[in-house]
Amino acid sequence: MKSLIRLYILPTLLLFTLSFTGCLDNTGPDPDEDDPITYPHTQNPGLSANDFLSDESFTKLEVEIDYMPGVAPDEDALTNLKSFLELRLNKTSVSLMEPTQIPSSDQSTYTANEIRELEGQYRDHFTQEDDSTLRAYMIIVDGSYEDGSVLGIAYYNTSAAFFGGTYEQVSGPALNQPSRSLTESVSFRHEFGHLFGLVNISGSGTDMQTDHQDDEHGNHCTNDNCLMYYAMENSGLFDQFLGEEIPSLDENCVADLQANGGK
Ligand SMILES: [Zn+2]
Ligand SMILES: [Zn+2]
Repeated sequence: MKSLIRLYILPTLLLFTLSFTGCLDNTGPDPDEDDPITYPHTQNPGLSANDFLSDESFTKLEVEIDYMPGVAPDEDALTNLKSFLELRLNKTSVSLMEPTQIPSSDQSTYTANEIRELEGQYRDHFTQEDDSTLRAYMIIVDGSYEDGSVLGIAYYNTSAAFFGGTYEQVSGPALNQPSRSLTESVSFRHEFGHLFGLVNISGSGTDMQTDHQDDEHGNHCTNDNCLMYYAMENSGLFDQFLGEEIPSLDENCVADLQANGGK
C-alpha cells in the first residue's frame, strides 16, 4: 500500500512549525515496531491525508469518540462534522460511533503527550490494513490545552483532541459569544482539516495548488474567511473572526484536497 510505505519513511521532524501552529502537535514518539496493529496510528498529523481523502486504500471511514464527564460532544456539532466528512472525502460511508464516556483525569490542563497516553488507554478501534475501513479517533477532555491557546489539536495521523474546558470559556449565551454548537462544529472540522494535510503539511501529499499558506501561523490558510484560518482554533481570537455560521473551506483549500484524492 503506497501510502503506508510513505508513513514509515517520513521524517518525524516537523517540530519547527510547532510554536506557530498551536493546534498541530507532531512531537509524538516513534512508532512501536512490536505493535500488533497493522496500520500505523502514531504518525504525524497529515500523513494519512490520502487515506482519508481518496478511496484508493479505504472506502469507508469510522470515527471513535471518547469524552470526559461534563464535556459530551454537542449532537449538532457531530452532525455537522459528519456532513463535512461526507462532502470532502471519497468514501461510500462515514460513520461516527456512539460517543463513550471515559473517566476524568482531574486536570485543568493537558499536554499533547498526556493526550497520547489517554489514547493508549482508551482507544478501542484501529485500522487494519486488510480492511476497507479507515478508523479515526477523537477525544474530548475536560480541561484546556497546556498553554490554553487552542480549542483542539491534531496529534497523530488519525487522531485529534478537543478541549472542553476551553469550549466553556469561549462559548456561551452572551450576545457576543458563539454558541457551544457552533464552537464545537468549527473546532471539529478545523482539526480534521489538519488530518487531511491542510495547509501544506509536509509529507501529507496535500500540496498547495496555489500559494495560500499563512507562513506566520504555520499550517494555516491566509484567508480570514476560511475554516483553516488560524484564528478558527485560537481561543483568544475565535469570537472576533467567527460569524454566525460555520466557515467553509475556501477554494484554495478545497483545490488542495481535490488534488490529493478528495472531493
Ligand atoms: Zn489549526
Ligand atoms: Zn483556506
